[in-house]
Amino acid sequence: MLVGLTRRGDAGILKIQNPPHNILSGVVLREFRERLVELKNDAAVKVVVIAGQGIFSAGADVKEIYQLSQLGSTEKILPFLQEANDVVDLVENLGKPTIAAIDGICWGGGNELAMACSYRVAAKNAIFCQPEIGLGLIPGMGGTQRLPQLVGCEEAVRLMITGEKINAAKAQTLGLIDESVPDLNVALVDLLDHRREILEKTRPVRSGNPNLSEVAAFAVKSQFPQAADAILSAVSAGYSDSLAKGHELEQKLFAARVLTQEAQEAIARFLKIQPPQQKASQTEKNGDDAETLKEIRQMIREFAAEKIEPKIAQMEKERRILPELIKEMAELGFYGIPFSEKYGGLGLGLPGYCIVAEELARVHGSTAVMVGAHVSLACKAVYMFGTEEQKQKYLVSGIKGEKIGCYATTEPSVGSDLANIKTSAKKVDGGWFINGTKQFISNGAISDFAIVLAQTDPMGGNRTQAMFIVDIKSKGFHITKETEEKIGLHASCTSAFAMDDCFVPDVNLLGQVGQGFKVAMHVFNQSRISLGAGCVGAVKAAIEETIKYVKDRQIGGEPLWTKQLTQEKLGELEAIRYLIETLVYETARLYESGSKIQKEAAIVKYVSSEFLDKAINLALQVHGGSGYIEDYKIARLYRDSRVNRIFEGTSEVQLLLIAKELLKESL
Ligand SMILES: Cc1cc2nc3c(=O)[nH]c(=O)nc-3n(C[C@H](O)[C@H](O)[C@H](O)COP(=O)(O)OP(=O)(O)OC[C@H]3O[C@@H](n4cnc5c(N)ncnc54)[C@H](O)[C@@H]3O)c2cc1C
Repeated sequence: MLVGLTRRGDAGILKIQNPPHNILSGVVLREFRERLVELKNDAAVKVVVIAGQGIFSAGADVKEIYQLSQLGSTEKILPFLQEANDVVDLVENLGKPTIAAIDGICWGGGNELAMACSYRVAAKNAIFCQPEIGLGLIPGMGGTQRLPQLVGCEEAVRLMITGEKINAAKAQTLGLIDESVPDLNVALVDLLDHRREILEKTRPVRSGNPNLSEVAAFAVKSQFPQAADAILSAVSAGYSDSLAKGHELEQKLFAARVLTQEAQEAIARFLKIQPPQQKASQTEKNGDDAETLKEIRQMIREFAAEKIEPKIAQMEKERRILPELIKEMAELGFYGIPFSEKYGGLGLGLPGYCIVAEELARVHGSTAVMVGAHVSLACKAVYMFGTEEQKQKYLVSGIKGEKIGCYATTEPSVGSDLANIKTSAKKVDGGWFINGTKQFISNGAISDFAIVLAQTDPMGGNRTQAMFIVDIKSKGFHITKETEEKIGLHASCTSAFAMDDCFVPDVNLLGQVGQGFKVAMHVFNQSRISLGAGCVGAVKAAIEETIKYVKDRQIGGEPLWTKQLTQEKLGELEAIRYLIETLVYETARLYESGSKIQKEAAIVKYVSSEFLDKAINLALQVHGGSGYIEDYKIARLYRDSRVNRIFEGTSEVQLLLIAKELLKESL
């Protein structure tokens, strides 16, 4: 018997006895339910005690969660979750007082079961925790709804996002349990015999307006930021909508998390197994994708040769990307390559987009930057953090090229140190007033919408920033400079704009207040990898140009390529090409698999831009004086490449990021 049932007077005592950890497997929960129904229907039973043999319970069965992850769809997972939640709901709605008598471990599903009881008494040695985040998951048996009721919204979110273990004394201070006692058995007898009336108390319901922006900072730091976001969403739904809606959303989000590769990998690591099915299907998918990616590469290469190359001189001179080219790229689907089919994309993720970035940069840096700012920054921000309504409005039209976007974090006084931006967002009825100036914004003057980072509290640093989608036609929005005169990227428009009491409606808040910095960092994490792909394209172009040159150029009656010092440079160029190409595409695949890649993205950005710099210098050197003359493509490649070490975070900033992550891992 996995759930024991004894009686003491008019009390029914249920004991979970599934040693060593009293795991709440499906079988245990089914048996638990049967005993519970028996006690519910027994009129002689006036109070129910729930306890565990030795310890209370370490929660759900991770092996069973792993099996759920292999079902492949949320529809298939939800009935199992519903079954588990029915048991917990039955405890809450038993129609009689219920006491959780907690000894030792009370984690995850165990804690969720205890929280559904009307009274919680714990021995001093009890330890409480919602550890799901460590597996990239969220609580799935009502934790996101019941924990906020007991300990308040902010504390609940903090506990779930950090997975912190707390002792009985702290649990009592926070309100998670009603009392902590030296001897659980003595306390139970006392409760049942002398203090019955306190069991009739009603459940505390916390209300008010939770300040989720405070706790959102924990989500940024989480090992699994998307799981942390799911926790925030489920808690918010319970507060702003209803508990029933909150429960429903929690189950959906739990099911969705279980299906992510990062959660499956974390679960497999915990169980010390390989995730075989995922691996197999991934291999098949990779095979399919590899074919599609090859075709995409060919298509972009042909387009670049036929449509972009002949217009480069004109575009460089006119300081713009021709509008018909912007339109044609949209018609060919370039802008939708990384995004899901649901929004009109091709679903090829970051590896797909890297090919676009590489092939465009191989031919024309300015076109690559125009597409990068629109797709990899503006549209991607909406894709990653937007509401469904925002995606329908900005992403779908962005993919079709009906709207062009830009991404604005840099200001005249702040570029690297984004925590100190000055652009302010002030809450007003129905939206926000934005005031401030942004500069060096790629696509600024040709955009329809801008993703703008702003500060909601001048004292709050990066914890109170918010990201907004600003329609360029909004009142108070002014382009103050169409484009800067630059060393290179002559056809890319690099603008400045000012916002004076520029009204942005609430529906255009991207993510939550307090998450702005996090949105910016997550968008940069993936875009830095595609920037690396642009560097690969530029290195390939430099190699092609150099090979052409050394075949033609004669030195002392022999082609230049015959000289050993030339061959040394060619060897170095090819080694750089191989190094950064492998690094970029490997990291893009890592990103797509759901792995955390903040450090790796910074490494890609640093290594690829620094090596590009070296490669272009070498290639230009091989060209001799001709390399300095505009008639040769290497001169433009040289001018266009330099900025890669600066934008989207300078090389110095990347090194600081890499060191920070390294120290986090090592100290
Ligand atoms: C062509 C072009 C296009 C751009 N497009 C966009 C765009 O679309 N959107 C956008 O928001 N921005 C854009 N930018 C701006 C770009 O991202 C910034 O220029 C860049 O982040 C650096 O900021 P900064 O110019 O303010 O330099 P600063 O931050 O002032 O840095 C100056 C120097 O100090 C170094 N430094 C900074 N912090 C530290 C530190 N802690 N320790 C040591 N050294 C440090 C930097 O590495 C740099 O060498 C673009 C810039 C250019 C040139």
